[in-house]
Amino acid sequence: MTNIKKLREDRGVSQQQVADELGTTQQTVARWEAGKVDPPIAALIRLATFFETTVDDVLGVVTRNPPWSVDELTLALELYFTNPASPPSKGSAEVVGLSAILNQLAAWLGTERAATFRNPNGVYMKMMNFRRFDPQFAAEGKVGLSRGNHLEEVVWKLYGNDRERLSVVAEAIKAAVRLPLDADLDHDNDAEITEAEEGRVLTRLHRVRERSRKLVEQRKAQAMRDGHGIRCEVCDFDYGEKYGERGQGYIEVHHTKPLHTLAVETKTQLEDLALVCADCHRMIHTKRPWLTLDELREVVLKSR
Ligand SMILES: [Zn+2]
Ligand SMILES: [Zn+2]
Repeated sequence: MTNIKKLREDRGVSQQQVADELGTTQQTVARWEAGKVDPPIAALIRLATFFETTVDDVLGVVTRNPPWSVDELTLALELYFTNPASPPSKGSAEVVGLSAILNQLAAWLGTERAATFRNPNGVYMKMMNFRRFDPQFAAEGKVGLSRGNHLEEVVWKLYGNDRERLSVVAEAIKAAVRLPLDADLDHDNDAEITEAEEGRVLTRLHRVRERSRKLVEQRKAQAMRDGHGIRCEVCDFDYGEKYGERGQGYIEVHHTKPLHTLAVETKTQLEDLALVCADCHRMIHTKRPWLTLDELREVVLKSR
């Protein structure tokens, strides 16, 4: 399916205008857009010129894959550690299986990808890249610490000496991408949230859980019942006191459970949710590692 319709609509031109530009009929343009006929090469080039883009873009071909993310590298490292002396081969069930999981993960996150995305060959090469950090092999002079992806090093430093945590986090990521996900979270708008160490998948799951409108309302109702009132559990800020009626009942909710538990315990308990003002919530998430409520309380106390 080509990208012609989208390119045309983005620019606000009609099928007839495109047809006139190319010296063809509106019906022909409609057939191209519907994918009933492919435009001839000469038409493709003229379409690309007209839309000021590339032929690939007109054809809707995704030609590049995004760089590997922390989540993906975490899973690759886990596979590497199954047997560093002799990691699974390119055609092995393990490598093919991870290739499938990485495609599932990309679909879950809505990542755009080409047909070659994380194919077994790419998965194998990425997994073997970890060798250059492995002291066992580096010491033997078998691999050099040459150029490399910065994130590979980050992930190696996180888990190279903590395989237990690696497998816990890796399992949580795999479990998360098997979960159905309500599309009600506009995660692209979440730019203020710094991705957690555990990666994008579990960060997203955290945000989905703490933004569930139903749970937020239940948590607020609980705070009213138990006499705490709707105020920030870190700094005690009360929107109603500051903003009067407009701020009455306003608060954000932060999910306090460690990220790796989110995918396993699918049901959120009210006691896992903390009431926080928007500023405190932002401060929790603004840098890695995210802070616990206690850690942030301490920060607030110290700065007073
Ligand atoms: Zn606060
Ligand atoms: Zn939060």
